Amino acid sequence: MVKIGVLALQGAVREHIQAIEAVGAEAVAIKKVEQLQDIDGLILPGGESTTMRRLIDKYGFFEPLKKFGESGKPIWGTCAGLILMATKIAGQEDAHLGLIDMTVERNAFGRQVDSFEASLTITDIADDFIGVFIRAPRILEVGNDVEIICKHHDKIVAVRQGHYLACSFHPELTDDHRMAQYFVKMVKEAKEKLAV
Ligand code: GLN
Repeated sequence: MVKIGVLALQGAVREHIQAIEAVGAEAVAIKKVEQLQDIDGLILPGGESTTMRRLIDKYGFFEPLKKFGESGKPIWGTCAGLILMATKIAGQEDAHLGLIDMTVERNAFGRQVDSFEASLTITDIADDFIGVFIRAPRILEVGNDVEIICKHHDKIVAVRQGHYLACSFHPELTDDHRMAQYFVKMVKEAKEKLAV
């Protein structure tokens, strides 16, 4: 069985843990850097990306998170987690972890529509997936190695780049766990590959 960590500094942690357990994998809240050694994959949850970054720095997670990704272990960022994974953030000088070759725009769906739900088609995952968007970012541009797996009204809202997965919406907030299932499969495959 694979063990998946959810970075537990801030944000929607419990919901991700429940979703991972619902699809039959082990899930653990990551509060200390040392715990990264014990997991096969990691989720960066939604919340508030600038607050999360501040806590990442405060608790010494920045380099260890980058190393975790570079080691080939899968990372899935949702909403604020997606922002943390981008190489560029529109209107800002610096990005955060810079794991996925993409430019993101924060709060990209307008102030009047703070949150909404939409039915989405996600490549290899579902064609009727309810996406919950909460002050969500969108992806403006991606590099050649990045696969766009979901758009909503022409706006890119989910991508995959090798062992990295990211989405603008919150799959952990509904009972549809197909995206969590997909990530668990990515983690299983990476674990088998890293074992040889
Ligand atoms: N707007 C938030 C940010 O910029 C993200 C919102 C979310 O994670 N639901 O960090």
